[in-house]
Amino acid sequence: MKPRGIRAIPYAVVALLLVVALRYTPELPEHRPAEVLQQGNVSSAQAVPRPWSRTERLNRGETLIGLLKRAGVSDQAAAEVVRAATASAVNTRFLREGMPVDMTADSMGQSPRELVFHLGIDRLLRMKKSANGWEGNEERLPWTTDTVVVGGTIHSNLYQAMDSSAAQYFPAHAKDELAWALADIFDYKVDMSRDLQDGDHFRALVERAVGPEGITKVGKVLAATFSLSGSDMSAIRYESETDSPKYYDATGKSLRAAFLRAPLEFRRISSTFGSRFHPVLGIWRAHKGTDYAASSGTPVRAIGDAVVVRAGWSNGYGNLLELRHRNGYVTRYGHLRGFAKGIHSGARVDIGQTIGFVGQTGLATGAHLHFEVLVGGVQRETRAALKSTGGEPIAHGELAVFEQRREQLLATLSGTAGVVRLAAR
Ligand SMILES: [Zn+2]
Repeated sequence: MKPRGIRAIPYAVVALLLVVALRYTPELPEHRPAEVLQQGNVSSAQAVPRPWSRTERLNRGETLIGLLKRAGVSDQAAAEVVRAATASAVNTRFLREGMPVDMTADSMGQSPRELVFHLGIDRLLRMKKSANGWEGNEERLPWTTDTVVVGGTIHSNLYQAMDSSAAQYFPAHAKDELAWALADIFDYKVDMSRDLQDGDHFRALVERAVGPEGITKVGKVLAATFSLSGSDMSAIRYESETDSPKYYDATGKSLRAAFLRAPLEFRRISSTFGSRFHPVLGIWRAHKGTDYAASSGTPVRAIGDAVVVRAGWSNGYGNLLELRHRNGYVTRYGHLRGFAKGIHSGARVDIGQTIGFVGQTGLATGAHLHFEVLVGGVQRETRAALKSTGGEPIAHGELAVFEQRREQLLATLSGTAGVVRLAAR
């Protein structure tokens, strides 16, 4: 509850407000002082208790007591309230700048009878003064969850496809989240920044949570399908009895594989970078690899478990990182601005681990990652080389349950777009 910052500033502000208030406040009506003196004394015939309420927002570095005093609450009442609030749920970590506090008092605000702390978008603490003192109750504001089918066709990229298909169900930021969620689900299968072509399409069955103040969040993606150049791919979310929820393909194989499909997370790649980007010139253009345009400093991840075999300068590649994986696979990451901590020759890295950062060292005209896959020492086209053959199959004993769930989800998914009920099993 102690202020972390400068204590003098709120006081200075209060003082300034006070000066302004004194200067501009019209004179109080004659009966007001009496009312103040008799506040809380309802039996007084003269003073009709008038409910007084206002909302204050916590200033930067301000304590709760500071806010209450600023609002005109008496020292004693403020101390009581803070004691009670602390005993309830108002922990200092909830005291974020701008937090609204609604106050209701019988009159003038010096002695409040109800305070509402808006702890978060979906929870508040309501404190009421009773004969026994202050009592606080935390209230959860309701979120409603429904299920939506979104379907779209790719023309330039996934964001654009999401814009045109999900706009009526999700606000802008949530549409991006949905694109990222899909990219995560297919992280071992599809490079969403490169593999999508004009005319490809997707459908997703996704939970949507709508909260107080109309806030909309992307919930769980229950199922999704992608049709890429005519080949279909499904993801079914299934919670096995023995394992955490995972995504499986239609045959019941986990979508996880030995390699991630791309060395950059899709969410890290700016939507303005399209496949038209050609960052390299001259003979460098003939290199065998894949270029990913991304801002300098974007984290680069190991696409699989590996041992670092090289981390240093290499002519046109600039800062180059080379990883050796199992089965004769080697991956290269070039033009790096630098390497992540602990990355040196001989170090072991895990799949997905940050190994370096995008830069434009070596022969590069703009910040980008140059990525290569070598199999048996030969550079291979990355998409073909990383085509995964499917992960762990679901436990045999659970296959029937999985198939039932799959039928239910896919039936719903293939229905009309919009808010849906899950098809009956
Ligand atoms: Zn390149």
